[in-house]
Amino acid sequence: MATATLSIDLDAIAANWRALDKASASGVQTAAVVKADAYGLGITRVARALAQAGARRFFVAVAEEGATLRQVLGPGPQICILSGHMGGDTDMIGDLDLTPMLNSLDQVTRHLESLPGHAFGVQLDTGMNRLGMEEPEWEAIAPFVLEAGPELLMSHLACADDPDHGLNETQLATFLAMTNGTGVPRSLAATGGILLGPKYHFDLTRPGVGLFGGRPYEAARPAVTLSLPVIQTRQVAAGEAVGYSSTWIADAPSTVATVSAGYADGLPRTLSNAAVLWDGDTPCPLIGRVSMDLITVDISHLAQVPRYLDIIGPNQTVDELADIAGTIGYEILTGLSPRYIRRYYEGTA
Ligand SMILES: *Cc1c(COP(=O)(O)O)cnc(C)c1O
Repeated sequence: MATATLSIDLDAIAANWRALDKASASGVQTAAVVKADAYGLGITRVARALAQAGARRFFVAVAEEGATLRQVLGPGPQICILSGHMGGDTDMIGDLDLTPMLNSLDQVTRHLESLPGHAFGVQLDTGMNRLGMEEPEWEAIAPFVLEAGPELLMSHLACADDPDHGLNETQLATFLAMTNGTGVPRSLAATGGILLGPKYHFDLTRPGVGLFGGRPYEAARPAVTLSLPVIQTRQVAAGEAVGYSSTWIADAPSTVATVSAGYADGLPRTLSNAAVLWDGDTPCPLIGRVSMDLITVDISHLAQVPRYLDIIGPNQTVDELADIAGTIGYEILTGLSPRYIRRYYEGTA
């Protein structure tokens, strides 16, 4: 059957989680971040594989994702909500035993009034200026919030993918100043923070992209192959153009394969005339514009027409494709189309 297929190696994801778990000291718990449908790979199978590997605490962005994840995992594992306790989420948080990371005095008030005694954490802003309480606000309400017994104090690094960036040390110092002496478990590191070293690990780490084979975790096992079926081939003569706006013109007689996927499937238009697809280990240049549902590829040099061409795989990682597109691996992963058939491999290691 000719369907664009996303192959996901659950063993690789589990191995990446174990390796990141080993990268921190023995007292440090390693969580798993599975927001945005586990970075586009499918939260159901991915979260189950991570739970099997040993993950006991999960992070998602919003309560709806937490509700889905609770159905997948059943009772037991802790599910933390990074957006905190938003208006309208109280029933979901209470009924499904979700743990919101409270981001503001408003959220603290909402949570303690609507669900007294229900687990929560606190997110602190140590310099990213995106989410969480800033130092003066926290100082003012910390005694009262600590009284209510938070399970976790956390913050997020803005520049952890750059070990030499000065903001890492600054955020670390701010985090220490805001949390020292509280006696509450602490978390500062995502994938990049784990790689910065032990002083960033605290009690709990929160890797996401590294689990799925992405930078900055260069030692990760790649977890994804994306194979696109060839729909049709044609011969074009020298001087003929291919695709919208005629941006590619054959300088010799050529064989062009049209494959099934385009920018509506998360393959950015910036890949036009720039990316490479692969027939096994043989590179085949993407020619012309990426269309909504189609891509055209020069296969003149192939001995026979392949059934599929890979655009992500052993010869071209998610990050390498992102480089060509002018974006980051995170954006490529989370944009992976719901139209792709997701095939999961496990138990093969
Ligand atoms: C997304 C996110 C993570 C995971 O980050 P990665 O870089 O994918 O490891 C951890 N913590 C917070 C607050 C996040 O938003």
